[in-house]
Amino acid sequence: MIPAICCRDMAKVSQICHKARLRTGTAQSSTSAWEAQLDDVNYCSYNGIEGRLLKMDVRERLALLSRSAVYDDLTAPGCEPVDDGRGLFAPAGDDRPIDTRVLPCVSHLATPDGQRRAILKVLQTSACENDCRYCAFRAGRDTRRTHLTPDEMARSFDLMVRAGLVEGLFLSSGVMGVNRTMDEMLATVELVRNKYGFHGYVHLKLLPGAEAAHVEAAVRLADRVSANLEGATPEHLAQLAPKKQTEALLAPLRTAAQMRRRLMESGEIPSRRDRGSQGGPETTGPTRRWGNAWLGLSTQFVVGPAGESDRELLSTVQGLYNELHLSRTYYSAFSPVARTPLEGEPRTSPLREHRLYQADWLLRFYHFSAGELLFDPAGQLRTDVDPKAAWVIAHPERFPIEANRAPLAQLLRIPGIGPHSAAAIIEARRVAPLRETGDLRRLGARADQAAPYVLLDGKRPPYQPPLPLSISST
Ligand code: SF4
Repeated sequence: MIPAICCRDMAKVSQICHKARLRTGTAQSSTSAWEAQLDDVNYCSYNGIEGRLLKMDVRERLALLSRSAVYDDLTAPGCEPVDDGRGLFAPAGDDRPIDTRVLPCVSHLATPDGQRRAILKVLQTSACENDCRYCAFRAGRDTRRTHLTPDEMARSFDLMVRAGLVEGLFLSSGVMGVNRTMDEMLATVELVRNKYGFHGYVHLKLLPGAEAAHVEAAVRLADRVSANLEGATPEHLAQLAPKKQTEALLAPLRTAAQMRRRLMESGEIPSRRDRGSQGGPETTGPTRRWGNAWLGLSTQFVVGPAGESDRELLSTVQGLYNELHLSRTYYSAFSPVARTPLEGEPRTSPLREHRLYQADWLLRFYHFSAGELLFDPAGQLRTDVDPKAAWVIAHPERFPIEANRAPLAQLLRIPGIGPHSAAAIIEARRVAPLRETGDLRRLGARADQAAPYVLLDGKRPPYQPPLPLSISST
């Protein structure tokens, strides 16, 4: 049930954002009242937050906040925290000046069509009242913190767009009061859209417990909204983030999903095509091709330190795909951060993260369910082969499959055949039956991989088993 919403059009969204700017002082002055407040109250400790709000110019703060955002694992790695000799999260006592040659960190979004788009991935503030046990910005950790006002952030982003450095924005934040911080983030995006006229890709993070009016404004302003669920179950979340509750994290996503459905049904959300030529990175990707709205929802999990199994994680994700029609899920392999409660925990293997992404791909595009995937007795995916290969090995009775008659879901079980080639096969066989592996190859399949598992017009195609590596390499 969506709570009654008073703002149903962009003018009212602007009203919310304008009020937000007034509340935070940014409509009247480029000096943020919030920053001043933080500086006064938070200099040493505010709600247990340690560290200083740094006095830096906008360029330096943008550099620090964008580097800080690498911890939000929503893009292909385009930049790592740079060891500039001072340590990115150097203790508050480190007073050496920031290198003014430091540029804001540009990240790269891997799009479904295989391209990489440069985006500014940045935090509104790196101050936070929460105490997530894995996080560099948790309250109580001595670290360098800073903040940009909506005016500063939006103007900086506009300059970067005009300079051709980025073509999208991902905006997240630490939490300094949920409403206040959401106000600031929305005010930033509203300026980006309406003052600077940017119609390209914007991804906006919804903070835990964000109220419905904030969610609606976010849905109207951004191409993608997301909320990090962090733990596979409430028990796992409790180990990672004692102040967070699964229901509070889920609520904004549920509200966004309901609003998206309602706005689409009423025609209030325009199609991507209607939004102009500056389509976001996903304009041509599966978001549209697979029948979802242009507005994408996503979430993220921290993988490893809470001891969840892959089965638990993927079962939860399957439930989210079914209920909320998320565009995608991000799996963030845990990496310990110094001076946090989890600093002694082992780093999660990148291979585990990779296998989770492969399994997730099967859930979204290959008509698999989490219950069909192969897990070991501990509930983990095999690491020696990818999840589709593991399923094929466990189900020899399902092959060979006649490529001229199999429905889409069955074609997708064949090694070497993916969503694009399966669709092409279905189109081509309407015209003439496929008879040779060359037909499969022409349609984009990896014919050598598929050959042992298909029938073509009732016949097994010739198949040359690969030579053992030791022989073929000589
Ligand atoms: S809410 Fe948690 S994860 Fe996010 S910045 Fe604050 S401490 Fe870090």
